[in-house]
Amino acid sequence: LVVVENVQKHYGEFQALTDVDLTVHKGEVVVVIGPSGSGKSTLCRTINRLETITSGTITIDGEELPKEGKGLAALRADVGMVFQSFNLFAHLTILENVTLGPIKVRKMKKADAEREAKVLLDRVGVGQQASKLPAQLSGGQQQRVAIARSLAMNPKVMLFDEPTSALDPEMINEVLDVMIGLAADGMTMIVVTHEMGFARKAADRVVFMADGRILEDQKPDDFFTHPQTDRAKDFLSKLI
Ligand code: ATP
Ligand code: MG
Repeated sequence: LVVVENVQKHYGEFQALTDVDLTVHKGEVVVVIGPSGSGKSTLCRTINRLETITSGTITIDGEELPKEGKGLAALRADVGMVFQSFNLFAHLTILENVTLGPIKVRKMKKADAEREAKVLLDRVGVGQQASKLPAQLSGGQQQRVAIARSLAMNPKVMLFDEPTSALDPEMINEVLDVMIGLAADGMTMIVVTHEMGFARKAADRVVFMADGRILEDQKPDDFFTHPQTDRAKDFLSKLI
């Protein structure tokens, strides 16, 4: 579904991604881990074209990412993204946050968008909060709204960039549980996270990055018990 081939990404002189190849099949959950600065966020941001690539190709469901222009809005609708910071619109209610994209981009009727949004908000456990503003919710609740908002666009793939890093410990599991549920429902997901429990439980593959390269791409059991590279061994030894 997502095919990244021979991608190079420069920020000026600096090469942030080198020879990156990654294929994610429909329904697969791929967890991306690696040290700070290894290019994990850059990889996510190139897949939904928040960043352009220097060379190589990225295709989503057989369509190569447009270099610019019109196709971008449609592409972004197909690729949901959830960030570390929840990025909800502060002046809109929870319900309005979730219905905005479907109404504006998917051209859905307001009543239909609201009906679907309520189903999604119930699914992530914040159905009771629909008429509140984001600031009236806990961090964990806001992040679950952010997930519902992405799902409302009916994306083909969901990208998560450290979705629980900004959360207090007691709120991490409520967000991870929603993600585990999504994975079980067959959503195609690319997840950057330091939560190794999630990787063990939900990932089909673990991708390890260092210095802008993918050094390992293995099943979680294999990766955690038999990492192939010294960089990965070193990284794993530093986790608690
Ligand atoms: P972290 O775990 O800290 O989030 P990461 O693996 O997500 O790290 P990236 O954010 O992808 O790493 O950054 C990869 C490299 O690219 C880093 O060296 C970073 O300084 C550099 N970089 C990222 N964004 C930019 C930018 N907009 N301009 C210049 N350099 C950048
Ligand atoms: Mg990052």
